[in-house]
Amino acid sequence: ATHQRIALVTGANKGIGRAAAELLAGQGMTVLIGARDPRRGEQAAAALRAAGGAAHAVDLDVTDQATAREAAGWIGARFGHLDVLVNNAGITGSGQVSPEDAHDQVPGSVDLDMVRTVFETNVFGVIAVTNAMLPLLRRSPAPRIVNVSSHAASLSLTSDPEGPFRGLLPSAAYTPSKSALNALTVQYANELRKDGILVNAVAPGYVDTDSNDHSGHLTPAQGAAVVVRLAMLGADGPTGGFFGEDGVVPW
Ligand code: NDP
Repeated sequence: ATHQRIALVTGANKGIGRAAAELLAGQGMTVLIGARDPRRGEQAAAALRAAGGAAHAVDLDVTDQATAREAAGWIGARFGHLDVLVNNAGITGSGQVSPEDAHDQVPGSVDLDMVRTVFETNVFGVIAVTNAMLPLLRRSPAPRIVNVSSHAASLSLTSDPEGPFRGLLPSAAYTPSKSALNALTVQYANELRKDGILVNAVAPGYVDTDSNDHSGHLTPAQGAAVVVRLAMLGADGPTGGFFGEDGVVPW
């Protein structure tokens, strides 16, 4: 029998994650729609099936380790392995991270509970889900992990006084959470290189989704294109890298 390729996308009920799931299904993969709200996860999976894709909803709140373990158990029982994990689920913490609305993330006056909440989802949730799925990924002939980061995570870009982010308000929550995700990406890549598991971070660009109140200029499919490219890497592909639509993004 031919190998059935399975991809799990966290936070795939809407936005970039949903678009990534659609594109992966279009590549012939069986897509698992991770969603913390089972009803909206099932709606997204049903829409994908109606469009001809192979899709199933999986209950998965990345801040709840029990749901990650249960999801891994279900995937293992049903498919026996996992080929692609896209760690996409993420929150901004405040309404958004646009210059107008990020005042509540300014380091000197930030609410520490908000910082904790953002790191719980964007960083610790990635560890919880990745570690729950690793045994399944190890059973894939070509395992890939893609962490959805942000250009704002780039210390090179954000520390450059002449750089593209000088207009962005300082953030103690969202932006450092994505820098930490980048750091984790390198550490996982270093651990898993010997096992042939390629782990990369991607920056989707400024995408029109709920997370920025639809101020982004890219469509979710445009933002998801780089996610899918890194999810479908050949065996000679990079690991421990950071990529956007135009290629390498500086750390
Ligand atoms: P959306 O708000 O549209 O989607 C976020 C998704 O993550 C939703 O499905 C949401 O579920 C899910 N999610 C949030 N918390 C959890 C959780 N604890 N468990 C499971 N799922 C969760 O945002 P985007 O599509 O814009 O964002 C997707 C990723 O892209 C994020 O990591 C974001 O930081 C990143 N990104 C986005 C950019 C942009 O311009 N849009 C730019 C750079 C990076 P629910 O519907 O239940 O809330």
